[in-house]
Amino acid sequence: MELEEKLAILADSAKYDVACTSSGSDRGGQAGSIGNCQAPGCCHTFTADGRCVSLLKVLYTNICAYDCRYCVNRRSNDLPRAAFTPRELADLTIQFYRRNYIEGLFLSSAVLVSPDYTMEQMISALTLLREEYRFRGYIHAKAIPGSSPELVRRLGLLADRLSVNIELPSEASLGLLAPDKSRAAILRPMGQIAASATQNRQELALYRHAPRFAPAGQSTQMIVGATPESDRQILHLTQGLYRKYSLKRVFFSAYIPVVEDSRLPALYTPPPLLREHRLYQADWMLRYYHFSAEEILDEDCPNFDPYMDPKCHWALRHFDRFPVDVNRAGEEELLRVPGIGPRSARRILIARKNGALGLPELKRIGVVLKRAQYFLCCRGYSGSRSPRRELVARALLDPEAFNEGCEQLSLFSAPQVQQLAGQGVAPRLAGLQVKEEAVKCIARQM
Ligand code: SF4
Repeated sequence: MELEEKLAILADSAKYDVACTSSGSDRGGQAGSIGNCQAPGCCHTFTADGRCVSLLKVLYTNICAYDCRYCVNRRSNDLPRAAFTPRELADLTIQFYRRNYIEGLFLSSAVLVSPDYTMEQMISALTLLREEYRFRGYIHAKAIPGSSPELVRRLGLLADRLSVNIELPSEASLGLLAPDKSRAAILRPMGQIAASATQNRQELALYRHAPRFAPAGQSTQMIVGATPESDRQILHLTQGLYRKYSLKRVFFSAYIPVVEDSRLPALYTPPPLLREHRLYQADWMLRYYHFSAEEILDEDCPNFDPYMDPKCHWALRHFDRFPVDVNRAGEEELLRVPGIGPRSARRILIARKNGALGLPELKRIGVVLKRAQYFLCCRGYSGSRSPRRELVARALLDPEAFNEGCEQLSLFSAPQVQQLAGQGVAPRLAGLQVKEEAVKCIARQM
């Protein structure tokens, strides 16, 4: 098989592996335009200093010994199969790099023969890249669950970032849909990577030329919407992964049906992109806003509201805690105010040393007053005078729940909202009623 053919197959097979939040996008190229979301092969990542770099994103092979029901590459699926040799993959990466197409490599793989055999092949390819070609670019490699600890260690010494996919939010779902995998086999390498990274930091403190182990840390990917877990369960798991395994990121991947199976959503069900978006918003609240999963969702409210971002929703449910006085509140309290982010909170703390802040100063600092005005008071502004919660809810409806950013709500049907109705989050709505009903629905949850 020609290398070009292998590349087309293996880059296409890698497209469901998310390294960024762009899963589900299907915009093709067009005459007279530039850009193409469908062209396989390249994806992007962000460096520590904020630069966006292009990566060659491929599977080492899509020949898989496992049969995970949700996966297009599963053993029982009839599709073209291919595998690189280590030399082919290393050469290809370097050729792409020399032509300035990419700056790094994102390498994942199906399970060829066994986890250990696959890892050995990946390690051989990365060793060629690092040692023979002296490639110093970014490499993100997926560790294969079930492979030996020694192979995970060797992979970590070659790659900048490692990831092990958690795949599904619960052990029960994993047993049902991916019987060849086990939660223990996934968590063990995650634990090993976290422990090795800690040990490596100590070694580097003693000896700065010590070999570096996965210096960009580890991440994971979770499929959302293939199984019945609530957002609350997913968020609790996410928080546990951050705390226990020091993950840099948990990526959520809206499930795209690829197979007819009674245990999975029907074919052509649209991927739950709005839910994925809400999970990313809540993920930011965990990582940058000092929220805990228990605060964001609870037993009474186990799923995100489709119409409102989780921070605004939390603020409305805890309306008695507001308004917050921006000239006195601590950083954590400021971060709870919708419209104030980590950067504007820090700027407020610095700016108020020079005098009390009013609305014009807050606007200059970057506070989004459109949202924050209902939840704060400051010099010359005592907060919205006892606003009715329903009025505030109406003002804070998330336009993304109603526009094409996630899924177009037509005047005659509301597919995304109907999908969420299945989770008991929202009523079935139609036409121009949508916004009015959304407000009532939110008010009922308060
Ligand atoms: S191990 Fe499972 S998820 Fe991974 S490629 Fe094979 S079938 Fe797909």
